[in-house]
Amino acid sequence: MIVDIHTHVFDAAQDFGPPLLADMQRCGVQPAVWGDVAARHLETTKAADVAVVFGIRAMRTGWHIPNEAVAKHVALAPERLVFFASIDPAENGFMEELEKCHQQWGASGVKLAPLYQDVHPQDKRYYEIYNYCEKHGLPILFHAGTSFVGGTRLDYSRPVHFDAVAVDFPELRMILAHLGHPWEGETIAVIRRHAHVYADISALYYRPWQFYNSMRLLTEYKAAGKVLFGSDFPFTTTGDSLANVRNLNHATGNSGLPQVPAELIEEIINRDALKLLGIPHPKTTIA
Ligand SMILES: [Zn+2]
Repeated sequence: MIVDIHTHVFDAAQDFGPPLLADMQRCGVQPAVWGDVAARHLETTKAADVAVVFGIRAMRTGWHIPNEAVAKHVALAPERLVFFASIDPAENGFMEELEKCHQQWGASGVKLAPLYQDVHPQDKRYYEIYNYCEKHGLPILFHAGTSFVGGTRLDYSRPVHFDAVAVDFPELRMILAHLGHPWEGETIAVIRRHAHVYADISALYYRPWQFYNSMRLLTEYKAAGKVLFGSDFPFTTTGDSLANVRNLNHATGNSGLPQVPAELIEEIINRDALKLLGIPHPKTTIA
């Protein structure tokens, strides 16, 4: 079974505030190229058996994607889409929003982004969220590592900060997105220490040399068993990610450098992330 653990939906015309639009313009990110994001999401995520989908809420940097809209999108293909709620601890009533997403709209997990939300991972507001998620068995996917988004402290995105969270919440299932790039080594140091901390490989293949090196590092640390497949749609698609992850050894050309074993790549792609994270298969939960 292939699970795409990392996909976004949003309505670029409505959900992006001025700081985000300015960051996108500064870095040459053009929302227009994504077209109808919701329609393309429904179509392209069919390349996986199941896709986890979320918006982002981060008032500080201009992300205003309503959780309700994401939940409604998931309801269009409930047999293969899984809803994660995005909760911004800087918003009033964030715990009520989390409870509503979980209890009314069926969220199976939570997406947090300390870098975008400008809140330190060990902030006491996040700790309320971690408490709730640990108690109710909701995994948390964190944006980890850098981003085109500016104006906030990059330090909040350092993988090492999630090490302390894992110590304080040993039963909480956590995923560090993008192998925490460019701190892949730091991410590996964290995920191999904690039974329930994972990382995803979304949005990495388009830096082929760095991705190859990260995957070799994972191989040498024997930590690839803690890594999950993800795409980061709409920045790429599930299908393009699958093809390029399978092709990652091409970065070495005919140099004779050691390869990332094909079996290891297939293990990552076919890993049952739902089972590891304690999420029921969506087919089994359709009302
Ligand atoms: Zn993402």
